[in-house]
Amino acid sequence: MTPLRRVALLAWILVTVLVGLAWLVASARNVQARFETGARILHRVLSQRSEQQEAVLASLTALTRAGVSDEALHQYVGAMRAQYPQIVGVQRCRAGCMDLGSSGAALPGDALSPDRTGLRWHPTSPTLYALSQGDMRVWVAAPRLFRAEDFADLTSGFQLVRPEDGTVLVGQAAWTPLPATDRFLPVLRVNKVLGSTAQPFVFVGEHPLRWAELPLAGVALLALLLGLGTVLLVRLVEGRERARAAARMAEQALQAERSRARHAFHAVNEALVVTDAQHRVRLANPAAYALLGNAFLEGGDLREMVHFRATLDQEPFDPDAFWGQAAPVKLPQGVTLVTDGGARLVEGALAPVQGEDGQAAGWVLVLRDVGPLRARVVTALEASERRVREHEQALAHVTRLSTLGEMSTGLAHELNQPLTAIVSYGQAALRMLADPERDEARVRRSVEATVTQAKRAASIITHLRTLVKRAPTQTRPVDVNQVLENVAALTAHEAGRAGVVLAVHPSTRLLIVQGDPVQLEQVLLNLVHNAVEATRGHTGAEVQLVARQQQEAARVEVRDTGPGLAPEVRQRLFTPFTTTKPEGLGLGLSLSHTLVQGMGGDLREESGPGGGAVFTVTLPLAVEASAHA
Ligand code: ADP
Repeated sequence: MTPLRRVALLAWILVTVLVGLAWLVASARNVQARFETGARILHRVLSQRSEQQEAVLASLTALTRAGVSDEALHQYVGAMRAQYPQIVGVQRCRAGCMDLGSSGAALPGDALSPDRTGLRWHPTSPTLYALSQGDMRVWVAAPRLFRAEDFADLTSGFQLVRPEDGTVLVGQAAWTPLPATDRFLPVLRVNKVLGSTAQPFVFVGEHPLRWAELPLAGVALLALLLGLGTVLLVRLVEGRERARAAARMAEQALQAERSRARHAFHAVNEALVVTDAQHRVRLANPAAYALLGNAFLEGGDLREMVHFRATLDQEPFDPDAFWGQAAPVKLPQGVTLVTDGGARLVEGALAPVQGEDGQAAGWVLVLRDVGPLRARVVTALEASERRVREHEQALAHVTRLSTLGEMSTGLAHELNQPLTAIVSYGQAALRMLADPERDEARVRRSVEATVTQAKRAASIITHLRTLVKRAPTQTRPVDVNQVLENVAALTAHEAGRAGVVLAVHPSTRLLIVQGDPVQLEQVLLNLVHNAVEATRGHTGAEVQLVARQQQEAARVEVRDTGPGLAPEVRQRLFTPFTTTKPEGLGLGLSLSHTLVQGMGGDLREESGPGGGAVFTVTLPLAVEASAHA
């Protein structure tokens, strides 16, 4: 529950309780006032009635003293009884009691003695009493003091009680007073002695307050109405709060939007100037101040601060036509902006800002200095032209390679290694044959090695021819680790002679690539041969031949501890006839590069600073090898 709702609920409970209680108390007071008024009236009526019999008694005594005849007295009593029905009989008691007129009730004789107040009570009928004066007695039936019309209000009860013993002389029929403890609501009471001194009866009245007399429905309705009012008020306040929060958020969003717009306005490289309808500058971004020079000021007339000039081969620039347009207008091509900083080639446009009435409320001028752009384009064009020229030169080299003479020198270079091996294996075999205790098995191995090298020389010739013819290579799955071992076996002799340690590290995984095993061998032989040559004569000379898997490719590295690549070679490493060796042909790396690319791979030189050379051959793994990995 929100704090507002909690406060509203508490306020509603408090107001409802306070107002409801006040209303209930006021209503109870009202009932009490009515009850007390009724009781007062009845008390007065009873007091008056009790005075009636006293008056009758006084008049009878006076008549007797005046010597009025008994018959006249009888008549008088009859008349009085007709008028005052509570008088049930009149007696004159001297020696004995004589009845001067009665309702027929048996009235007692003289023996009755009066009580403290002077009243004589009937010995058997407890509600019958006599008022006496001299020898005259007026008998009164207390029940007749009350009349039916006295009790219009049946919700209140009244009694007349004898003060001595509390005997009820007369009470309202069908009303029994309730003990106050039985009820939740209070009982209103009145207790007052009658005005007559001769008849000091106690007048008792009671009115039990009832729920029906209290405006419970009204209080409930009031609570409901107050509740509804509170709910409406809370809704109203909450609605206002929501509207205020929404307005706040909208304001924040607007601020953020403005700030973004301001940033964008300031960040753009184009000069942006916003003017009013009279072309006075109202807003400009930093690019505008930078482009338009020192004469450009906020508040000034843009037409006087910005001057354009057409180039010689164009129509002269017409400022009136440009500034006077009602629709968006572009600057003509090739226009220069003239400022105190000089003239610059610009592009741009002027657009009106529409006001609410549809008229131009201002203008936006956009200008771009196209000088630097043009310079960049020219530089880029020159660079690409240079690259094209270099490519043409490389192509010319390759074309030269196909000539017979170049072909033969290339061939000699490639065949040199196997031929050297054949010679050394042949000489070794001859030496062994000259020995009478020769080891037949060693002679056989030397001759076999000679045959292997001769076959290799034959396959080199075939492949060189294939290359020159640009015939597609025959590819098949090649085990890279196997190729590594072959290369190690073929170069071990050469490395040993040069005093270079050859360390071979095949991959722990099976690496199968799609290619030509002899071509791959040829490439690695070239690289190892170059590495051995580069490290020859250096202390701690070592050449490493490492194979491993790199993601979906097989990677073979040939590392050496030599001096690394000469700077002039690095740029044109794979270009034919690039060499630093007096006897070199500069064909090995370019041929190797072509062969690796022909197998879908790549040959790179990746040596870091300060170390020997590192050449890497990467070839995509064949599908079945990737699946095994
Ligand atoms: P050649 O060996 O006939 O010079 P290559 O194409 O095989 O032709 O090599 C071109 C040049 O690259 C070499 O002359 C040499 O300067 C340089 N080069 C190749 N391999 C290495 C290496 N491992 N260390 C230093 N330089 C190298």
